[in-house]
Amino acid sequence: MSQTSRFSPTLPELLAPVGSFEKLITAIHYGADAVYLGGKAFSLRARAGNFDELGLRRAISYAHEHGVKVYITVNIFAHNRDIDDLTPYLTMLRDAGADGIIVSDPGIIDLARQHVPDLPLHLSTQANVTNRASARFWIKQGVSRLNLARELGLEEIRAIRKATEADLEVFVHGALCISYSGRCMLSNYFTGRNANLGDCAHPCRYSYAVVEEKRPGQYFPVEEDQRGTYIFNSKDLCLLKQLPLLVDAGVNAVKIEGRMKSAGYVGAVVRLYRLALDWIGEQIFLGKAAVSLSLPETFHNELSKIGTRGQTENFFRARPSSEDMLYDRMRIEQSWVPVGIVRQADPLLIETRHVLRIGDQVEYLGRAIEPNLVTVNAMASADGTAIDRANPGQQVLLHTKPTLDQVETHALLRKRIEPS
Ligand code: SF4
Repeated sequence: MSQTSRFSPTLPELLAPVGSFEKLITAIHYGADAVYLGGKAFSLRARAGNFDELGLRRAISYAHEHGVKVYITVNIFAHNRDIDDLTPYLTMLRDAGADGIIVSDPGIIDLARQHVPDLPLHLSTQANVTNRASARFWIKQGVSRLNLARELGLEEIRAIRKATEADLEVFVHGALCISYSGRCMLSNYFTGRNANLGDCAHPCRYSYAVVEEKRPGQYFPVEEDQRGTYIFNSKDLCLLKQLPLLVDAGVNAVKIEGRMKSAGYVGAVVRLYRLALDWIGEQIFLGKAAVSLSLPETFHNELSKIGTRGQTENFFRARPSSEDMLYDRMRIEQSWVPVGIVRQADPLLIETRHVLRIGDQVEYLGRAIEPNLVTVNAMASADGTAIDRANPGQQVLLHTKPTLDQVETHALLRKRIEPS
């Protein structure tokens, strides 16, 4: 897929989360312009399968070979014990060819300015930029890109755009915190795992009950239904529908959340936003104003097949309300799940990510927004032995009806499942 639409060079950069080399390959395959990832040290998302030094260097060179930029997260709030190791780490990132670092701690920004002044600084959402004065402040500190707080509406984004020259980056898709990013101590309090050191245990997704002081051990459900009440559980952010307005507002990058999500999820979301941006670019090329555009229904159909906790536009149009929370369950049941990654196009060999059986309906995620729907009619293990069921992680030769053509290595397949 194109890294930049052939129709409009003014589209925002599509920035994808990458928690492993496989996710990097998938995000690039589906058209990310840039990716962000963490090293083993100094990065939030401690459990995202972050990259060691060799892995970082390999990821950067693979991305650069494909014309994709790499930003490295160094967005912890550091303690004194971290400081001595930061300078050599930042120097290593610069020498490895990183295109920027994502930072939130003023101390780390200061160290980076002293020791790696040529390495662009991108301000993390953890720094909560909610106004133009704050934006100007961070620019004076040497930051070249601001990831704006997720608590902003469109008009506030426009006002910051007007007041600043720096690149503006906006989260468009993924999980939300119930607090300002970086200002939540729930995880620390309940589990001792520090969200600001990348180790959040996500207690905002737990099911809660009430205990009366004099009746220890008796849990009174505060339930919406028999499944319990997830009182802090925000729906996931989705600004797909609002992409034309973000393009019109002059945002420089749109960012997808989810370094801990699967390659199947990352690929499907990147593909959707790539195709949506390219469609907008095409319409602009044809003379239409971005502000007047509405994405065709097919994009929303595609969105409905990607795993979610439900969708909210958060603060983009109005203040969120109880409608933007998912009180009665942890997530929405899915009717499609990622089932495999193409390892070889001809003969078609996939690596499974879910149980796959003969007769399953499968969609191949290709270059057009409409996926190719096929049925599995035969399978064999890699040595050619016929099988009627494949388990996750297996290499499988796949025959479908109709036969899939124009299959590409690294592409994804998903399968329809019955809701439980
Ligand atoms: S507990 Fe939830 S709201 Fe708090 S930091 Fe973690 S993900 Fe965000």
